[in-house]
Amino acid sequence: MNTLKIVRQKAEEAAKRARRDPQSIQLIAVSKGQPLEKIQEAIQAGQSDFGENYAQELLEKIAQLQKTATVRWHFLGHLQRNKVKKIVEPIEWLHALDSLSLAEQIQIKRTTPLKCLLEIKFSEEETKTGLSVKNALDLIPKLKNLDRIDLQGLMTIPPLNANPENSRPYFKKLFQLLQEINKRGLYLKMLTELSMGMSHDFEVAIEEGSTMVRVGTAIFGERK
Ligand SMILES: *Cc1c(COP(=O)(O)O)cnc(C)c1O
Repeated sequence: MNTLKIVRQKAEEAAKRARRDPQSIQLIAVSKGQPLEKIQEAIQAGQSDFGENYAQELLEKIAQLQKTATVRWHFLGHLQRNKVKKIVEPIEWLHALDSLSLAEQIQIKRTTPLKCLLEIKFSEEETKTGLSVKNALDLIPKLKNLDRIDLQGLMTIPPLNANPENSRPYFKKLFQLLQEINKRGLYLKMLTELSMGMSHDFEVAIEEGSTMVRVGTAIFGERK
């Protein structure tokens, strides 16, 4: 899969520019809206982490890929509480934890700790999901009591803009927020993960400290 190779190369070059170990960055292939064959092709090419946004679509893909044991699923979208029961066991990562009530639902429905990231929203766009910085800082200590929540870090989606340089200030802010949370010791342990960067801006995100890039169209082409 040539596109996958190109994305991996660009990620590696960005890591080197930032004097970072390329191994410290996970590439998540975002397969929402893509046919099964493309996922299988990526698996063949050695890709093991995949991202989805919709519970129903994820369940269908899991059922169809049953025999492939090596896939790790990342749920990237806003997770509705009534969907938790169905998808909380098969996923490995939740990138958009955004409320205490969702965390409490996961605590009830999951049998082992789930790796989670808090989705942070820096802009005031009404339509966007995610927590304000203040609400995130309030929420983190409350997660300490929930042993099925394994908080690992933060995630953000900058306002959509064709120029990747416009994302850079948001990536810097997320990096600084992670430092701040760790400095204040708000959680049980140090948070280490920053899920930031998509097809158009993942190189900038890596330069700014991303540890998880979520890349869809640059690997799979346009979604249906
Ligand atoms: C769809 C989606 C992506 C991938 O977007 P591309 O522009 O196709 O790379 C990444 N993260 C989230 C949260 C998404 O919803």
